[in-house]
Amino acid sequence: MIKLKLISLPVKPRYYGGKFKAAPKWIVVHYTGTPGSSALSEAGYLTKTLTKKSTHFIVDDATIYRSTPEGRIAWHCGSGQCANPEQKMLEELSEMHASDWRYDLAAKNHLRWLSEGDDFTGNAVSIGVDLCCQKTSVRTKSAKDTDWSVTNATMQNSANLVAWLMQKYGIPAWRVIRHADCTGKPCPRPLVSLPGDKNSKNDFLWSRFVWTVDKLSRTETFDIWEVIHADA
Ligand SMILES: [Zn+2]
Repeated sequence: MIKLKLISLPVKPRYYGGKFKAAPKWIVVHYTGTPGSSALSEAGYLTKTLTKKSTHFIVDDATIYRSTPEGRIAWHCGSGQCANPEQKMLEELSEMHASDWRYDLAAKNHLRWLSEGDDFTGNAVSIGVDLCCQKTSVRTKSAKDTDWSVTNATMQNSANLVAWLMQKYGIPAWRVIRHADCTGKPCPRPLVSLPGDKNSKNDFLWSRFVWTVDKLSRTETFDIWEVIHADA
């Protein structure tokens, strides 16, 4: 049994959309892009900013903030179809050897995308999950930089959250995607390899994340503890 504490600190209603027409079928993973920032400070920031941007959950090493009510559409990945998921998946598969432990799940996910993935329409059908992140040098914060990372504790905490959401909404692993997989934007950068990178470590971390949530969602049970933040 894994205990998850969800702290609600929602943004103002004008910064998220209406009710989901049907249960969300996708989970889109992002990063905050603010090195060293906690889930609390990111959630707090979103309650004050005037930009039309929102997400459902923000995760750091120890805490999970719910920034948009779960039944409402958040504005995190646009409203388009996936830019080119097939190409991205094929690239990933071509870099894996068939004996790679990730290969079977990746190949299976790829086939499902091809046959059933065209119901992705962005925000209206997806839950947004933002990962807090770290960066070795904060002199620049460009997505092209190679020194972005997510701590192991944040990876584990977000894997637990995503696995619970998969169970709750009946979302299979192949419907857990990165922002990059739908729009091509390099987000979450610590889990997205770019052509200039020395290796594909970031894509590898993503494959491992998908493998982990697939397993957790099938084997674990979750005990959810709901808390309302004092400022909410
Ligand atoms: Zn994003």
